[in-house]
Amino acid sequence: SLFIGGSIAGLAEVYTNLQKSIGATEHLLEILDEPAEDISPVTAIAPENHLDGQISFRNVSFHYPSRPDLTIMNDVSFDVYADQKVALVGPSGAGKSTIVSLLLRLYDPVNGNILFDGKESSSFPLSQLRSQMAVVPQDVFLFGGTIAENIAYGKPGATVEEMEAAAKQANAWEFIQRFPLGLDTVVGERGIQLSGGQRQRIAIARAVLKNPRILILDEATSALDSESERLVQDALDKLMEGRTSIVIAHRLATVREADKIIVLDKGHIVEEGTHNELIGQDGLYRTLSEMQFIAASS
Ligand code: ATP
Repeated sequence: SLFIGGSIAGLAEVYTNLQKSIGATEHLLEILDEPAEDISPVTAIAPENHLDGQISFRNVSFHYPSRPDLTIMNDVSFDVYADQKVALVGPSGAGKSTIVSLLLRLYDPVNGNILFDGKESSSFPLSQLRSQMAVVPQDVFLFGGTIAENIAYGKPGATVEEMEAAAKQANAWEFIQRFPLGLDTVVGERGIQLSGGQRQRIAIARAVLKNPRILILDEATSALDSESERLVQDALDKLMEGRTSIVIAHRLATVREADKIIVLDKGHIVEEGTHNELIGQDGLYRTLSEMQFIAASS
């Protein structure tokens, strides 16, 4: 899962304030997905900061600030080309979420470099970088407001028409319009409780509105009912089209279709290739598939 705990220099204060306001059970990552919009007015992306969506890790090593003794990533290098769909696969603790945290620059590498379109990630203003990325987490948290507010979080100031179009593309419109108040329906503790699949589709609508160059997706491990599952998968497939997608993958269907699968173990890349290439090798990917760590059901 993509829970990011611990303190982060420079963000600690924001984190504390946010935790106070929304409760300690929250996923920090989801909040940090949009910090620019939260703390400063949205600014247009400067031409020099526009991302095509190419990502390179060059000999990246990393340990968390709280555990300098524990090397989490060791000499990790890989390339993702613009518009590719890349699946991250590996046992629990292998470092999949850490790669995502590094991409979002929640942390910086201890050694090595992360490049976007061949340029050092630290050369981009953080807000400009993050406003071109969207995250769809496993467990979607909606804050206690209206559905409209939760969707428009991806693009402050979005019009009702834009929200409706995003909800339609996310396969969320059908259930939203069945509520008497539609987009103005209040969700969360004081409002309507949505199912896991419905919350995911709201998060997808949020990402559709944001229209990021880079999409990061943490696939749900827990099964939804099959109708909801189909609607979520269909919405995600549409969302991934035409942008770079990094998927923490648990589903065979996802890895089969990926342009590249990166197999991680204990902070190293142990294999890299397509499903057909990796299944033909007697390696960790095949073992994981056989052990159904990558669900064989889909
Ligand atoms: P899972 O599939 O279980 O989500 P993962 O492959 O995403 O696992 P990571 O969450 O990246 O793995 O964890 C990699 C290693 O880093 C683990 O040993 C984990 O305990 C450690 N780790 C993760 N987050 C932190 C943190 N905030 N501080 C210290 N160590 C951490």
